[in-house]
Amino acid sequence: MPVTVVIALGSNRGDRGMNLRRAVDALSPHVRVVRVSSVHETAAVDAPVGSPAFLNMVVVGYTSLSPFALLDGLQSIEEGLGRVRGVRNAPRTIDLDLIFYDALRMRTPRLTIPHPRYERRRFVLEPLAEVWPGVKPARRCV
Ligand code: AMP
Repeated sequence: MPVTVVIALGSNRGDRGMNLRRAVDALSPHVRVVRVSSVHETAAVDAPVGSPAFLNMVVVGYTSLSPFALLDGLQSIEEGLGRVRGVRNAPRTIDLDLIFYDALRMRTPRLTIPHPRYERRRFVLEPLAEVWPGVKPARRCV
């Protein structure tokens, strides 16, 4: 049975809008996307001084993959779009975060669901509110 998932996307390097579009297209083998937020421009958070602003959006879809198989898929999209890992929070062509996997709650070294920081991140909450009714307001967000 497919489950509903929510994925947050961000880009602050290269052609940011095209990176988002390509990432949404690349989700299709993994997730059937059914709702897409608008694109929000936000200053980089927790990033080196002078980091370029992000374009962020959130999508909702259905998947038949397990949480870890979906994370593998998201990371393969990040790699395919030229994301270089290594420097923490350095500019990235694309960042894909799994926010919700149905009502699942899990905490492992590799994967935490719901995403551990989404409630504090305006750049997730604002687009999320467009596509996910009833999302809780954050206590303190950046
Ligand atoms: P980031 O630099 O934000 O892309 O962080 C990616 C790291 O966070 C990866 O090593 C993932 O294993 C880990 N991670 C933990 N929970 C999640 C999640 N819900 N969605 C995406 N990555 C996650």
